[in-house]
Amino acid sequence: MSITRRDFLDGVALAIGAGITPASLALSGCSQPADRSQKSGGGYAEPAAGESAGPPYPPRLGGMRGSHDGAFEVAHRLRDGEKFAIADKPVEAVWDLVVVGSGISGLAAAWFWRRKHPDARVLLLDTHDDFGGHAKRNEFDAGGGKLLIGYGGTESLQSPGSLYSPVAKGLLKDLGIDIKRFETAFDRDHYPRRGMSRGQFFPKDVFGVDKLVTGSPLLGVADDLDAARLNARPLAAYLADFPLPEPARAQLIALFSEKRNFWPGKRAAAVQKLLDHMSYLDFLTQRWKVDPLVLACLRNGPCDFFAVGIDGISASDAFATNYPGFQGLALKRSAEAAAEMDEPYIYHFPDGNASIARLLVRALVPGVAPGKTMEDIVLAPFDYTKLDLPENPVAVRQGSTVVHLAQDGKPGLVDIGYVKDGVTRRVHAKACILACYNMMIPYLTKELEPAQVEALRRNVKGPLTYSNVLLRNWEAWDKLKVHSISNPAGFFSLVKLDYPVSLGGYAFSPDPSQPIVAHLVHVPTVPEAGPGLADKYRAARAKLFGMSFADFEVPVRDELARMLGDGGFQSERDILAITVNRWSHGYAYYPTPLYDHIDTKPWPEAIARRRFGRVAIANSDAGWSAYTHTAIDQAWRAVQELASA
Ligand SMILES: Cc1cc2nc3c(=O)[nH]c(=O)nc-3n(C[C@H](O)[C@H](O)[C@H](O)COP(=O)(O)OP(=O)(O)OC[C@H]3O[C@@H](n4cnc5c(N)ncnc54)[C@H](O)[C@@H]3O)c2cc1C
Repeated sequence: MSITRRDFLDGVALAIGAGITPASLALSGCSQPADRSQKSGGGYAEPAAGESAGPPYPPRLGGMRGSHDGAFEVAHRLRDGEKFAIADKPVEAVWDLVVVGSGISGLAAAWFWRRKHPDARVLLLDTHDDFGGHAKRNEFDAGGGKLLIGYGGTESLQSPGSLYSPVAKGLLKDLGIDIKRFETAFDRDHYPRRGMSRGQFFPKDVFGVDKLVTGSPLLGVADDLDAARLNARPLAAYLADFPLPEPARAQLIALFSEKRNFWPGKRAAAVQKLLDHMSYLDFLTQRWKVDPLVLACLRNGPCDFFAVGIDGISASDAFATNYPGFQGLALKRSAEAAAEMDEPYIYHFPDGNASIARLLVRALVPGVAPGKTMEDIVLAPFDYTKLDLPENPVAVRQGSTVVHLAQDGKPGLVDIGYVKDGVTRRVHAKACILACYNMMIPYLTKELEPAQVEALRRNVKGPLTYSNVLLRNWEAWDKLKVHSISNPAGFFSLVKLDYPVSLGGYAFSPDPSQPIVAHLVHVPTVPEAGPGLADKYRAARAKLFGMSFADFEVPVRDELARMLGDGGFQSERDILAITVNRWSHGYAYYPTPLYDHIDTKPWPEAIARRRFGRVAIANSDAGWSAYTHTAIDQAWRAVQELASA
């Protein structure tokens, strides 16, 4: 069994670093934003000195980012049946390649294409005001000219040693990324050397008391730390501090430590199959028969990996991502899953994988940014006015939603309509790569067979949010000796100080008196939605679209104050800015035996991404796997398919 989905964050699923036997606990994640239109009592990300006179610089924008207002409305009008006629529009230009979507997959596709065809003219169209898609950079002015950088989406390279294909590794190498450099850029001892640990928060409305318990001995799947760096207490002592009444506490300890075999006599493969078809929630309630308060200790734990809580993942996935309760079952992790767990989670630029997007754009668009290394990309100033110039062979056109695609006009040309600034425009392309959300493709074109339409529509993406909060300092965290707090029963399921990465002249916050960015994860779960995972994701998306900035800001202030109040934290004083990255269309759908019966019915992934004419399909969606390396691999495949068309 492999870790079928997200295995990149600490605090979600944990293995024991000290104490009892193999087991784990899940802590979760939720996030927050900031909105310039709503006064929050704190400050907001302001333009850097000298920037105010120029065009907006998207990484500095605060408020609701991610899929920001203005990025999705045209697409939703198309979904709702509006027609965008282009037949009478003049053709602006003929491009060798048009790429829809300037996320990592679209940018990589443009890169691979230009490697094959160095003289090709390539246009990338994207709905957002920034390039990178999920790979989003957030910048903050921390005062006195101090720049702090956060990641608003795609976080880190996941296990590049074991998961990256030769193609993906080759791209990193061509971009100048030496993955060994992260071993020194990422200071794994930064928090541990101060005696700081991870902990879990227990909110009063669920547990009767607000309580922060620190000294967690639990390691994450693919963790940036190791047991020696946890500053952990023995598991029994850690769990003993959870504010649970005695029966629930005993159940929790048993869940972590007792070897119970619920299916004696059944072979491992048969047990595995049962777990594939059982949610983790059902495993806990029906087999372990745990108290609701034990469930509350785990509830939103999987959110950061899976964009869904314990009700939405299979017991197998819970086992693979190190949740407790399986120690009595003779299950084995696949070699792939084991390899992933062995690689430290340190392959992180200060802006996450936005640096990969920036490296690609710098390589593609002449004059957009100086420099040529993985170091200088971190602080490289980008001139957004250069992204779309007629004299350049590559143009990255933002704020442009593609609404129409047809190949029935001029032979050999793809007719593409898009809306920018409220105006419907038209371009022709000799080839096209759709690196956009795959479920949107049936709305763009009438040229697909019904089976492909149906397959594409199954790619319902998991929504989630990442909020970056600029803090005046991290003294309260240091005083409480905690740098990462899971909160599986609260709003933000994971709250943590930023990764300590210094690279290319960018220095991480050196000591607690200095400003820092905290990262908060919120996933809008709807456990009662069903019966499928797609239904849960759709319900969660609807919920997310109904949320304003204030719906994030209030819990940012409230939960940080309650978690860190004993350390002297005061929200009004200590929160300087909030940026919420809303990913209503987040993780690519991953088919699972629990909902999709993929062990008995083949999943139509090849049908979904089938090339049609001069149009190929990329995006991590095309690999049904929410990873950067999948986005790159799918870009490569799409380019290859067009080359042989
Ligand atoms: C919050 C979050 C955290 C993640 N963390 C990690 C991580 O740590 N490691 C990892 O490997 N992966 C991570 N992922 C997975 C991530 O999705 C991939 O790594 C990768 O960034 C996806 O790139 P993409 O180009 O396939 O898609 P996207 O980044 O989604 O890009 C697609 C682009 O197409 C645009 N688009 C859609 N429709 C249209 C249209 N009609 N016209 C024009 N443009 C359109 C979209 O606006 C978007 O910008 C994370 C994802 C999320 C949401």
